[in-house]
Amino acid sequence: MFDRLRKAFKSFTDSIVNTISTTTLSEERLSELRDELFMQLVDSDVAVDVADAVSNAIVEGLRGVKVPRFGDKESAIREVIMNTLSKLFSDVPNVDFASTVTELLRGKRPVVLLFLGPNGYGKTTTIAKITHMLMKMGYTAVWAAADTFRAGAIEQLEGHAGRLGVKVIKHSYGADPAAVAYDAINYAVNKGLHFVMIDTAGRMHTDVNLMNELNKVQRVSKPDLSIFIADALLGNEALEIARHYSKYVRIDGLVVTKVDAYPKGGAILTFLYMLRKPIYFLGVGQGYDDLRPFNKEEFFRELLAS
Ligand code: GDP
Repeated sequence: MFDRLRKAFKSFTDSIVNTISTTTLSEERLSELRDELFMQLVDSDVAVDVADAVSNAIVEGLRGVKVPRFGDKESAIREVIMNTLSKLFSDVPNVDFASTVTELLRGKRPVVLLFLGPNGYGKTTTIAKITHMLMKMGYTAVWAAADTFRAGAIEQLEGHAGRLGVKVIKHSYGADPAAVAYDAINYAVNKGLHFVMIDTAGRMHTDVNLMNELNKVQRVSKPDLSIFIADALLGNEALEIARHYSKYVRIDGLVVTKVDAYPKGGAILTFLYMLRKPIYFLGVGQGYDDLRPFNKEEFFRELLAS
């Protein structure tokens, strides 16, 4: 995974290791390295502003660093880069989803999870994957079919629900999505279920009615976590849409989908840097088990692994 982005960092460290002749890097060399890394990051689909910030910070981190002439130069450089990335992203929380929701359940039941994002980004599949994971942990869930707009949305949810054995609370198309969410929460309260997962509509994000509708669903359902589903393949577009959403609805964290089909990897860095929100999971396939917990430090380590 993230092959292109890993290659970008590998080629950057190799480039330093292979050309370093003195114990510190000259200003001229640092400047070349900055440009080199910037280009590599942009080629890996990192947004320009983010590539700029990351390459600047890494090169600043390397300034004055003494690289051992005969020792393990590569590890020394990797450590500097790792420290710089950790610092650059220090305020982006690392959230372990499974332990967070378990903790939430100690204080209340049901825990309400609201899923947001445009159609096609993988919202329904992600709801199914997360439910499958929670069921394996011994929890129960009900789904709210709160996309009452798109023809086929309810049936699509019911398809996954049937396979997983989950109840779907639905109204007819055109009904108020907030009322569906409300009913699903009542259902969970009455049945003593652990989770309510709310699917929402994802038509044009510039549609103010949709944004107001989502805002109402959020106000009524008071979700414990509002999760934006971001399609890695649509990196910058997904970023802009998430920013637009966050003007109307609270976003607590993200799931980045289709990472298995996205060797460039750069959008992950872009989402983290620009949105400063935790990524709970990466979607890594179409199966229910294809969900990988995300930890930013592990991600950086993976990027820098030789
Ligand atoms: P929604 O409209 O946002 O609910 O999107 P869907 O859940 O229907 O997903 C749209 C398409 O993306 C479907 O064909 C899914 O199987 C596929 N998909 C979702 N998540 C992933 C993922 O992590 N990897 C891959 N390869 N495909 C995914």
